[in-house]
Amino acid sequence: MTMAIDQQAIGTGCPCGTDKQPTEVFHTATRRYVRCPICDLVFLYPRPTRESIEGYFQEDYDSDYGEVEASDDRKPVFQSVLQHLSFHRSPPGTLLDIGCGDGEFLVLCRQTGWNCSGIELSKPAAMRAAQKGIRVLSPHAVKSGDWAKHFQVVTLINVLETVTDPVVMLRQATAVLAPGGIVVVRATNGLFHLSMRTPARWIGSQYDQAFHWYLYSTRALTVFMESVGLTVISLRNSKPSRGPLSPVHPWFSQMKWTMSRAVLWPLSQTLYVVTGGRLVWGPSFEIIAQLRGSG
Ligand SMILES: [Zn+2]
Repeated sequence: MTMAIDQQAIGTGCPCGTDKQPTEVFHTATRRYVRCPICDLVFLYPRPTRESIEGYFQEDYDSDYGEVEASDDRKPVFQSVLQHLSFHRSPPGTLLDIGCGDGEFLVLCRQTGWNCSGIELSKPAAMRAAQKGIRVLSPHAVKSGDWAKHFQVVTLINVLETVTDPVVMLRQATAVLAPGGIVVVRATNGLFHLSMRTPARWIGSQYDQAFHWYLYSTRALTVFMESVGLTVISLRNSKPSRGPLSPVHPWFSQMKWTMSRAVLWPLSQTLYVVTGGRLVWGPSFEIIAQLRGSG
């Protein structure tokens, strides 16, 4: 999945648009990750192209991850995001989930009263969502202008890790927001995963660590959101999923994940509480931002 992409890369600079050179964070035999000195984003260098990413999601993603991702493992994640959303917005209203997969998150949202739509690049996953009665829009719907200022809520659950350009995606998400609307993002926490690289190697678990194309800090996402006209209103740890998508050693992996939930998750939550929400050190975080200039 990643090797071919490295060769076709075009974009090299950070999506924040700075011309400052990034510095290397770490590299493996095939991949190199760098950090932007301006916005703090850690990213695969050089960055993959739009064609390679869209082709991957349309053709290959479903057989690699799609079915697993659609399993019950993601349920705690979806409940966590929906709970966080419910602190800030209540139905009725329109909600768009970009990268909705087979629509499980939207099924949950619909049960609580939201009028739900989804966008999904993977055709088999989009079909499964449609079979559940979810309205699935064309992948190009957010670019077309037809849905401008339409949605009260737009959600991006672990989508910004694997888009061509997260700032462009956030700008498109913002363009379909109704006045006062909010964007809800769940993202992999670079602060956590980079600090766990060494301990993960000790227990032979480095291949369970999923480094995609972008690794976020809360600061990087805040910078991106502010740059497209959003103001961050809430930030917190996100409940972990039940396990990695395709563990190398299923039994061993299960034990490690049980340990993580019993030790690391309470630690993350404690750090969050004792620092008054300033230290967000869970495996993933949720961030909610509101369209600026609206009350
Ligand atoms: Zn940057």
